[in-house]
Amino acid sequence: MAELDPARIPELDAHLSSLAPVDRLRWAHETFGDRAGIGTSFQPAGVVILHLAKTAGLPIRAFTLNTGLLFPETLTFKTEIERILGIVVDDVEPERTVEQQAAEHGAELWKRDPEKCCELRKVQPLGRHLFGLDLWISGLRRDQSAERASTPLLSLAGRPDGSDVWKLNPLVDWTRERVQEYLSRHGLPHNPLMDRGYRSIGCAPCTAPTSAGNERAGRWPGFDKKECGLHTRTRK
Ligand code: SF4
Repeated sequence: MAELDPARIPELDAHLSSLAPVDRLRWAHETFGDRAGIGTSFQPAGVVILHLAKTAGLPIRAFTLNTGLLFPETLTFKTEIERILGIVVDDVEPERTVEQQAAEHGAELWKRDPEKCCELRKVQPLGRHLFGLDLWISGLRRDQSAERASTPLLSLAGRPDGSDVWKLNPLVDWTRERVQEYLSRHGLPHNPLMDRGYRSIGCAPCTAPTSAGNERAGRWPGFDKKECGLHTRTRK
């Protein structure tokens, strides 16, 4: 893997910004090899990234955070995408099962302390996984919410010990409409929950259908929480 100097972020960001997403992924593979990994929750942008990598012949590993609380529809959709693309997406799991967490922290922690629940079931498992990567590829887009409006294309994120891991959001400048158009053009499916009013899909207990507000308005209804912490807690 080429050593990258964080001081080069502006120059690299400008270069990558001039490239199509598939060429951003090509740069990722050529630069980081098997130390690059695509993180996906099978939202439309994630499906586009997996499809771009596959059709360009880029063997970039992919992973998903399986919290044990995902919708059955999402798990079925994962299997469908793996079959369509001929890939395997690794499950990254929490240390404790949902039952073990309930025994330790009480039942349905997400109803009382979603920050803690996300820490245990998402942020910590991701942190452990990042020790095996030098580049984390994510499907964040700037038009998803106010919180994501200034998301960089290339940045540094932090592993739990404070060490650096590079982060690339190859569709950061794509709109929701452009993502949908790509899926349609390539005959790719979306999570069937989207046809039932879910616009951003996470864990079942913390995701509701929504027609108002931004794309992520249906996450953690009833709480003043907009992010699970995967992207905010690892930001540098
Ligand atoms: S989204 Fe909800 S259920 Fe999933 S880890 Fe976070 S608080 Fe827990």
